[in-house]
Amino acid sequence: MSAGAIPLIRLRGVTKTYGQGDLAFQALKGVDLDIAQGDFVAIMGPSGSGKSTAMNTLGCLDRPTTGEYLFKGVPVQGLDRDERARLRRRYFGFVFQGFHLLPRTSAQENVELPLLYRGETTAQRHAAAQKALEAVGLNGWEHHTPAELSGGQQQRVAIARAIVSNPVVLLADEPTGNLDSQRSAEIMQLLWQLNQVQGITVLMVTHEPEMAAYARRIVHFRDGLLDSDQPNTPFPLRGGQGGGHAPALQGSVAQEVQ
Ligand code: ADP
Repeated sequence: MSAGAIPLIRLRGVTKTYGQGDLAFQALKGVDLDIAQGDFVAIMGPSGSGKSTAMNTLGCLDRPTTGEYLFKGVPVQGLDRDERARLRRRYFGFVFQGFHLLPRTSAQENVELPLLYRGETTAQRHAAAQKALEAVGLNGWEHHTPAELSGGQQQRVAIARAIVSNPVVLLADEPTGNLDSQRSAEIMQLLWQLNQVQGITVLMVTHEPEMAAYARRIVHFRDGLLDSDQPNTPFPLRGGQGGGHAPALQGSVAQEVQ
């Protein structure tokens, strides 16, 4: 990023206080953070250090109590609930530890959900969901319900749902928390590819160093403050799994990602 350029995300002096009066608790105590488009940031820190609060703030799910959040230079703290919802739908995709898929609904329909609000035709929704499922390696699994899929496959469906609307930023909160180490590595490889190949900015909360190793940058929270911010050579570029030979994602939606 050139000097003076506006980063995709800029936090300045961000605080978040839960509750009021005697019960008030300050979960963020003045966070400064710049995130460039295309970065892959792992957010680490002990339990209670403010990671989820930071994530909710970054994803425009919640507003800072004080301080400034600029998204593409636009002050998010000044937006009302509906405006923040529009910003989220346009720019953000979310992936959670628990997948959060609708149980009796096919992979295809789960992935189409975010598009229902966008006024697209059925054919457009089908095509976009198909492409996203291809991108996460789930060709042929479109009509399976979550119960018929493994945990790793369910998380792939959730990632397909998160990328189907071509987000600029993918927020992942402990995305491998419910998976064994082999499935975890596959999900991390996929997130790394989405960042490396498609240029999606990835912000991921994790407490596992093996998962953070896939990021380009590792930030640590402690007691509501950022206490370190280090660049990292992503594991696949260190000659690890997929090193230097990341296959182009099938059905790439890269051209649609700004
Ligand atoms: P982490 O994700 O690092 O575990 P959190 O951001 O979830 O940390 O929480 C930071 C602190 O804020 C914790 O002490 C937690 O108990 C408190 N906290 C989080 N959410 C709320 C809430 N809705 N109301 C009151 N306190 C909260």
